Amino acid sequence: MKEKIHLTGYTEAELIAFVEQLGQPAYRGRQIFAALQHRRLRSFEKMTDLPKDFRQQLEQHSTASTLTIESRYISQDGTRRYLMKTHDDRPVETVFIPEERRDTICFSSQSGCPLQCTFCLTAQLGLLRSLTAAEIVEQIIVALNDAYGVGVQPPKGTNLVGMGAGEPFLNFESLIHALRVINDPKGLHIVPKRITISTAGIVPRIHELAAMTDRPHLAVSLAAPTDELRNELMPINRKWPLDQLLAACKEFEKTLKPGELLTFEYVMLDKVNDSDEQARQLANLLNRHGLRAKVNLIPHNPAEPLPYLPSPSERVDTFQSILETKGIHTYVRKPRGRDIYAACGQLAARRELRTSPQISQI
Ligand code: SF4
Repeated sequence: MKEKIHLTGYTEAELIAFVEQLGQPAYRGRQIFAALQHRRLRSFEKMTDLPKDFRQQLEQHSTASTLTIESRYISQDGTRRYLMKTHDDRPVETVFIPEERRDTICFSSQSGCPLQCTFCLTAQLGLLRSLTAAEIVEQIIVALNDAYGVGVQPPKGTNLVGMGAGEPFLNFESLIHALRVINDPKGLHIVPKRITISTAGIVPRIHELAAMTDRPHLAVSLAAPTDELRNELMPINRKWPLDQLLAACKEFEKTLKPGELLTFEYVMLDKVNDSDEQARQLANLLNRHGLRAKVNLIPHNPAEPLPYLPSPSERVDTFQSILETKGIHTYVRKPRGRDIYAACGQLAARRELRTSPQISQI
């Protein structure tokens, strides 16, 4: 049987073209876009402003949802992790992080990940497959509907980070398409300046992103100040070593808006990459490339069977002050959702936790 088209990944213009092919007027496409993206409906049945026979016609060719929610885990700190399934039974994980002034949704771009970062649990799944644009958009819809109710406008701003499972730049086309849908003021209306995409260092895509007019922010995961150590922790470094990666970042820097900084993520692994000497090496590396950047230090989130421990907090503080003495803006990221395997590097479709009570209709 032919696979149904998942309309949640369509822009308004694409939906108009789609309905016109079915012999319907353009405004029906606009109605469907609003129902999917503004009212955040996940079934045609609920789109009662559409004639019944048209809804039946839609059902034959297309769908408004393909993800099923398998479990929802709620952390003591309020973070929520959703473990979902695609129609072909691949795990998809999304994390909702409530904060005082805004919420952040961390979405996945792939099911599993082909990169082999040794500090990351997702790596152990390998790549199951890349997600479609619609599957990326639907993750945001599920998280917002669960947090606030179906279609209820979020009371605070929503930030998006592409830091869940997968390397977003290895699924570039679907990612960019999804962002176009998400940006639309008639839909979710989450604008590029509220979106950060993180990469392990896919250099050609950094150049491509830099060339986009309305692009999201960029974060680069570094994890090591030397090629020798980075080759070990993030094997993608063998393909694009630090000098090439930072040269691409330097190019990207030309596109930064006033006040915007490049972000480098640095996971802190006890006795692996957290010495004073390594802090100096990192500062020298960034200063040598003269980058307008900040560094986020991320205490490692321990997870069996990963062989690392998080750096003790005094170590993180010393590392931070060495970087700052050398003129690098440095922040320490507070871990969120560690108890439910929702924190950075922990997404690996874990099921063994007790799930929260029955999920209401999202
Ligand atoms: S850290 Fe990111 S890029 Fe590396 S294996 Fe994990 S999900 Fe993939």
